[in-house]
Amino acid sequence: MRIKRLSGNFASLKRSIDSGTEAQREAVKNIIGDVKKKGDASLFAYAEKFDSVSLSSLRVSEKEVEAAYQELDQDLVEIIREAAENIRFFHEKQKRESWITYKEDGTMLGQKITPLDAVGVYVPGGTAAYPSSVLMNVIPAQTAGVKRIVLISPPNREGTLPAGVLVAAKELGIGEIYKSGGAQAVAALAYGTETIRPVDKIVGPGNIYVALAKREVFGDVDIDMIAGPSEIVVLADHTAKANEVAADLLSQAEHDVLASSVLVTDSMELAESVSAEVTRQLETLPRKEIAGPSIEQFGFIYVAESMDEAINAVNELAPEHLEVLTEYPMELLNNIRHAGAIFLGRYSSEPVGDYFAGPNHVLPTNGTARFSSPLNVDDFVKKSSIISYSEKAFQNSAHKIAAFARLEGLEAHARAIEERLK
Ligand code: NAD
Repeated sequence: MRIKRLSGNFASLKRSIDSGTEAQREAVKNIIGDVKKKGDASLFAYAEKFDSVSLSSLRVSEKEVEAAYQELDQDLVEIIREAAENIRFFHEKQKRESWITYKEDGTMLGQKITPLDAVGVYVPGGTAAYPSSVLMNVIPAQTAGVKRIVLISPPNREGTLPAGVLVAAKELGIGEIYKSGGAQAVAALAYGTETIRPVDKIVGPGNIYVALAKREVFGDVDIDMIAGPSEIVVLADHTAKANEVAADLLSQAEHDVLASSVLVTDSMELAESVSAEVTRQLETLPRKEIAGPSIEQFGFIYVAESMDEAINAVNELAPEHLEVLTEYPMELLNNIRHAGAIFLGRYSSEPVGDYFAGPNHVLPTNGTARFSSPLNVDDFVKKSSIISYSEKAFQNSAHKIAAFARLEGLEAHARAIEERLK
């Protein structure tokens, strides 16, 4: 890995978000138009075209779910259960209550929290299965109180979904699961078909077709975010173990050739041994074809003059994942201002949070941790303001409100107030 002196100069983690080629954007628009026009028939046709499978039904049956339980090791089912419990425990803490406040003149003001009616979770398919995506997207929606949660995911060659995905869904009590992928799945969730009723919000990761489709339907429905490639920054001092730091950097790099893995340290000795370890560990990594180019292109080790300089760099980078592998990580927490998730100490390696600890793994990427947060319960509710004035409160403020309206040239607004004074 490249080692550089930090001295205020480091590459930003920001990489332009893939907005696809002209052909991809055009294809997505056509697919969405097709789904709007032809409904279910287009979903069957696209499953044949892109997923190479002829489906007899779009909806996953109880039988398929039962078969998934047969296929999956009982130990794995238990692990999924325990992860779900941890994730639920954490998200319960995020719940907010509606509130009302009163003033002496009889004014009542408040905020009413209402869960969204219906949410669609896209679970990516392709070569891998992502049960963790099911847990991380469904549980905050359930905690928020969303009544209808729908899963959609591309079918495999056998015309079903991966066992891990189906088991995770069943464990959460999700029964409405559809087999469709890419832009057509997003369109079906946004606009509905004969089989699939539309939802109000679409969440979940996916490839470029999914991302472009989400961008396209945004406004008609809400979406979670358009995420960029994944990133990790490890902030470490001389006490960190080079083999562990290297393993953590590689765990990010294996996601994607565009993923970025960065070490910021005040120890040149650590920098050199991590660099050597990365090379050594890469050799035996099954996904080295992905991790190798990722490290080569977007992997950096920065050596700072001091921990203060290192922390400043971390805040500038505003990474999606930050691991703090220093002697006293808690002491640095106050100074860290921008990071999607902060993993403190050597026993909190990123995969602990990716799968199991409880906090959400859907995190702001590309430096957006400067102004945005992990997926959370608030993403699945909306707030209505409540305003109720008593006659006394109204009389006291009526002329001020009318004056404000006239300041803006809105006479009808002023009269709406003054009619009540007559
Ligand atoms: P996917 O489910 O995102 O996409 C598969 C679908 O893409 C197919 O069903 C098909 O409809 C569509 N498609 C494929 N080729 C097409 C074409 N030429 N024209 C139109 N549509 C086409 O599965 P995937 O492709 O394996 O991608 C998974 C993605 O999800 C990866 O990019 C991965 O990095 C990402 N992911 C991200 C996270 C996260 O938390 N950020 C987690 C898991 C996966």
